[in-house]
Amino acid sequence: MKIYENVDLKNFSTIKIGGKAKKLYFPESLNDIKFLIKKSKDEDKKLVFIGVGSNTIFKDGTLDYIFISTKFLKNIEIKEEKDLFYLNLEAGVSFKEIINLVKKFNLEGFENLSGIPASLGGAVAMNAGAFGNEIFDIIEDVLWIDFDTNEHLSKKNEIKYSYRTTQFQKEGFIYKATIKLKKSKKDIAKIIKNHLIERNKKQPLNLPTSGSTYKNPPNNFAGKILEEIGYKGKRIGDIGFSDKHANFLVNYSNATFKDLMNLLESAERKVERVFNIKFEREIRIVE
Ligand SMILES: Cc1cc2nc3c(=O)[nH]c(=O)nc-3n(C[C@H](O)[C@H](O)[C@H](O)COP(=O)(O)OP(=O)(O)OC[C@H]3O[C@@H](n4cnc5c(N)ncnc54)[C@H](O)[C@@H]3O)c2cc1C
Repeated sequence: MKIYENVDLKNFSTIKIGGKAKKLYFPESLNDIKFLIKKSKDEDKKLVFIGVGSNTIFKDGTLDYIFISTKFLKNIEIKEEKDLFYLNLEAGVSFKEIINLVKKFNLEGFENLSGIPASLGGAVAMNAGAFGNEIFDIIEDVLWIDFDTNEHLSKKNEIKYSYRTTQFQKEGFIYKATIKLKKSKKDIAKIIKNHLIERNKKQPLNLPTSGSTYKNPPNNFAGKILEEIGYKGKRIGDIGFSDKHANFLVNYSNATFKDLMNLLESAERKVERVFNIKFEREIRIVE
């Protein structure tokens, strides 16, 4: 397994903020992962899993945790049964790679998820979703390792998941998952292309960002609330809530973790004061 030392965490987070990881591990097998989970227990160090880092913000300074990147967990197995395709994917397979398969075999069921800059593991852990669909709509099963290094192959109906969260956030590492898609008669490549054009119109993709900052409160929208308290476009130093999509944080150049936390805390205080709503963060902050 590859191990890098003194790594710039900025390069593992799409918003490009953060200090250094004393060590960053790149497991290539199930045994590597078990070894690292055990190591974190033996050394009493925090475990931090990193996929694409599109939902993750690291603090400044040097962090001595067991950082695990899924970058080299890329195996893909495809099983075809009549018009159904079962894709068994390792954690580090990216949504871009899934879209390539979806287009190659003209499969339906993934269109609304295209454009999310995720790894399979990160998306399953977060139950990522968009436009009325979520990854759990197409999940068949998940092979995961708990923090005592036991393996579990759980069917979808055995897994606890809800809006942007799953049991895995507290219970273990997702090693593989199977998604089920269907051969389509529609032009899937064209549908995805149009979908991406629509997404690009609404999201500030010209700047480093970490996507939605807050979960939508029941029957409401976090972006709308931020706009109503005057935080659309609000900026401290180089970090701000985008003026294109209020719930997206953007890094204008050299944003610091301190400015970011000040901005979040100020928004959260104001939302609570004005609307009596406790905002729940969707982004993961590693500090
Ligand atoms: C431009 C942009 C647009 C976005 N649009 C959307 C959207 O439409 N819908 C949406 O839901 N999200 C969206 N996001 C947020 C983000 O892309 C998703 O949450 C995505 O699922 C995160 O995947 P990741 O691989 O980057 O995870 P990371 O940020 O690397 O990690 C996220 C979480 O997953 C956990 N994790 C990662 N890998 C594993 C693993 N193998 N096992 C266990 N836990 C793991 C981490 O511990 C962490 O808690 C967007 C982000 C950006 C930057």
